[in-house]
Amino acid sequence: MELSLHAPLGPVVLHLHPILANAFLCALGGRKALEEIFRPAFGFVILPYAAPGIEIGTLLWNTIAGDEARSAAFPVFLLENHGIVVQGESAAQVIQICDKALALGAAALPQRGGFPPFDPCRAEECIPAEILRAIREAAPELPCFTAFRRDGASMKGEPIGSDCLFPDTAVYCGGRSVNASDPATVTIDVEAYRREWGHVPKVFRCQEGIVAAGRQETEARFVAEVWWAQETVRDLSAAVGGARRLSEKQVRRVLGLESEKYRQGMAGGP
Ligand SMILES: [Zn+2]
Repeated sequence: MELSLHAPLGPVVLHLHPILANAFLCALGGRKALEEIFRPAFGFVILPYAAPGIEIGTLLWNTIAGDEARSAAFPVFLLENHGIVVQGESAAQVIQICDKALALGAAALPQRGGFPPFDPCRAEECIPAEILRAIREAAPELPCFTAFRRDGASMKGEPIGSDCLFPDTAVYCGGRSVNASDPATVTIDVEAYRREWGHVPKVFRCQEGIVAAGRQETEARFVAEVWWAQETVRDLSAAVGGARRLSEKQVRRVLGLESEKYRQGMAGGP
C-alpha cells in the first residue's frame, strides 16, 4: 500500500504503525519528547502528517532530495499521526534499530509499554442489552458485534469532526465513533453520522465500553482491534501533552483516496 515509502530508501525498509511510536507521533508534545529521547541514540527525521500513499511518499522523497547526505545517514523516519519507517542494509539491522527505538519510547512513558492486551468479549457480556438493541435497529447492515470494556468510554456528546488519530482508524472504523450511552438517541445520532460521512458508523461508545460493529464477526473484531489500538495510543499520549487528532479534512482525504478504498474493500470497510 505504501510502496512510495520504500522505493527511495535503503536496500531494506521496515514500515510499521506501532502503538509505542504513535503514542509520541500522535501527541501534542511528541516532537519535543522525541528530540530528547532519540537524538542522543540515532539520527532521525520527523515528517509532518501527510495522507498515506503518494502524498507521504512525495514528502519523504522531497525530504531526502533536499538534504541527501544528511537523510541517507538517518536510519529512522518518524511520520506524525502515522508510524515509523526504518532503512538499513539488512533485515537484522532494521529490526534492531526499530526495537531500540520502541524500547526507548517505552522507557520514557509512565506505563513503560505495559499497556493491557487486547481483551475483546461478546458484546452481550459487557454492554447493556437495550444499547445493543438500539444499535442493531439504527444500523441493521452491521449485525455482528465485538466489544471491549473501557470505563467511562462515553465522553459527553459527539467529537467535533472526527476522532481519528491516524489513517488506519479512518480506513477501518470510519470518520468517528458514535455515543450510544442513551439508547433513546442512538437512531438520531446514527442518522446524523450517515449524513455527515455517507456510510454507517462502526464504533459506538457507552459507559461500559466500546462496541465495534461489522457485517461479519471477523470485520467486527478487526474494527475493535484498530479502535483499541487508538484508545491505547490516546491513553499513552496523555503523558506527552495529550493526543493530536487528525482534522476532519485530513480524515475525509483518507476516506476518499483510491488506494485506501482498496484497503477498506479488503477489510469490508465503511
Ligand atoms: Zn503506513
